[in-house]
Amino acid sequence: MSIQLEEIAPRTRQLVYDLVKEAGADVSDWENFKRGAEHAASNPRYCYEWSFVDSDSLVVLNLWHGGMRERNGVVEDALNMRAFAHRIVRLRDDPWRKGEAKAVWEKRALKMDRAIQLAARKRLPVRVIVCEGDERDIEAGDDEASRVHKRLLDPVPWAVTHYDWSTGEVMLTRGVPAIEFVDQFSAPSDPGEQAPEKRVVEGSVFVRSAEVRRRVLLRAKGICELCGTRGFTTAAGQVYLETHHVVPLSEGGADSVFNVVALCPNDHRRAHHGADRVQLQERLQRVGALLTAA
Ligand SMILES: [Zn+2]
Ligand SMILES: [Zn+2]
Repeated sequence: MSIQLEEIAPRTRQLVYDLVKEAGADVSDWENFKRGAEHAASNPRYCYEWSFVDSDSLVVLNLWHGGMRERNGVVEDALNMRAFAHRIVRLRDDPWRKGEAKAVWEKRALKMDRAIQLAARKRLPVRVIVCEGDERDIEAGDDEASRVHKRLLDPVPWAVTHYDWSTGEVMLTRGVPAIEFVDQFSAPSDPGEQAPEKRVVEGSVFVRSAEVRRRVLLRAKGICELCGTRGFTTAAGQVYLETHHVVPLSEGGADSVFNVVALCPNDHRRAHHGADRVQLQERLQRVGALLTAA
């Protein structure tokens, strides 16, 4: 295990209440419960939740230590609570599994997704309660709740560094500022507008695609890779560019950083509809290869 992951491996069983409080979130409402203030920590309205939001200034999330990975010295966690909630609904509708996947898990998963959305939109710091224990596999038929044996509050704040509004794919990263760069899929859009390059696929393919776009946006750093203009700043304070597959996926183009470029909206439309789109495609192929190698 990497040094950083080792560092945040929980060794004691601390109470969620104490950790949420330690993170700096307001826990005064935990006391409003019939057993009285001295039992605030076991208030069932809060103590089983997976996410906590403090009046738009802070988000606290429970994350499994086993789900984290370290890459290039950075600890991250990729998850999709929206997909998790849908999975629970599907299992619940299965006549053979009725009653096993609990409605309350769906509720908690969607609540956590909303907390992550809020953190992404407002670029709020995310404090992480690192959990270790028995994580139940709902697909395998586990109908008991996961059991946490140990917890700790990571002293280092995390941030949402990628949120895909069309799929719910999330990347949480330890010790870095919140999202700076967004594209047409990660910026909140009109609900009616369909992502033009969205493919109807499930599971890992989307994860990879989101990861490619994230890496291309980081590579471009807010500057159009064709004309060098800086993208506009969104209402949430992020820089907007559009990601574009140079050779379309439908024509066998690869979903890789070599074949994806970040463009200003004007150049993106031009790459699709311009009179010079064939020449542009050749240029962009060289751009993708050069910038990736750099
Ligand atoms: Zn441009
Ligand atoms: Zn495109």
